[in-house]
Amino acid sequence: YHAPAGHAAGPNPQAARGRCQRLSGADHSENPLPRIPWMRGNFKLRTGPGSGLHRERRNEVYMEALLEELLEQCRPYTRQGKVATYIPELAKANLDDLGIYVLRSDGQHFHAGDWNKPFAIQSVIKPILLLLALMDNGEEYVRSRVGVEATGKPFDAINVTDQTLLSDHLNPMVNMGAIAICGLIHGASYEEKFQRLLELTRKLAGNPDIQLDQDVYLSEKHTGYKNRALAFLLKTYGMLEDDVEEVLDFYFKACSISVTSQDLAVIGSVLSSHGTLPDSEERVFDREYGNYVNAILMTCGMYDGSGAFAVNVGVPAKSGVGGGIMAVVPTRMGIGIFSPGLDEKGNSLAGIQLLERLSNRLYLSIF
Ligand code: GLN
Repeated sequence: YHAPAGHAAGPNPQAARGRCQRLSGADHSENPLPRIPWMRGNFKLRTGPGSGLHRERRNEVYMEALLEELLEQCRPYTRQGKVATYIPELAKANLDDLGIYVLRSDGQHFHAGDWNKPFAIQSVIKPILLLLALMDNGEEYVRSRVGVEATGKPFDAINVTDQTLLSDHLNPMVNMGAIAICGLIHGASYEEKFQRLLELTRKLAGNPDIQLDQDVYLSEKHTGYKNRALAFLLKTYGMLEDDVEEVLDFYFKACSISVTSQDLAVIGSVLSSHGTLPDSEERVFDREYGNYVNAILMTCGMYDGSGAFAVNVGVPAKSGVGGGIMAVVPTRMGIGIFSPGLDEKGNSLAGIQLLERLSNRLYLSIF
């Protein structure tokens, strides 16, 4: 698999500017249909009035204008959120950042704002962890270890009832379940397990330059007491076989992978196609795993905000305390959003506002 040319990772302003001009510059007369590297090969060009090309172009202009309009509408919300402070490094984020990237299943892509700014993936790694665990162990085993019931609780909840902890109390999208999932990843060492997770993330995002953010990792490792408590509870109830600190070190690293809205949109688009890469149609994971992950995103991806999100937006999505949201519109598109101001549930506040408006305008709700 070759990464799409020009898909820059991280802060590469030169590349970003070039791409912005190419994709959203107003004058497309010389290049009437901006193509992107992962556009599907069977797309047919027809020219002339009333042709598919004209319709396509109108639609493109509409999408570009729509994203800009919605971004401006949501900008006031960025300052209503609060940056995460329990991981000191995340408190340095700029509340004014707001970006969106959309990759449609026809290969067209659109973006606005700070779509190329890097941030820590945080909990948006959880669906990727779950995918890797499924690919390594199969659905039956993973499900026997970590359940699929929505917790309806905050992301760091201690979900123990009647003095016992069962797999049904765990969900892969909240911390305790995700830490249990970490223990299911294959590899001779935790170093190797992390490399495998990083490689899968790069592959799904079509971006070989995705890296660990060392500062965020160390910051969380030094302060992650609640996650230590959760991991020790798992150990107490026999749900974690390996050394607690080793598993946690892997989990903290997983959460500290640095991505952009573009990366999240591309990963979301692979989930929206239930496992095929947008540029090559190479299958990365079984179709059933796509169904499994998307269903859990729908019911628990936004934690105790998942019900409201289902009603107001209506698509599977995952948030992270770094300010990212990855939304999956099955068969239609992947969406990546970044805005570090969080609501009281730890979800990007302006990000949710943006998704609500986008969903209304494009009829994205799967319900
Ligand atoms: N690394 C974070 C934590 O464990 C992830 C939480 C989140 O993004 N909601 O607290």
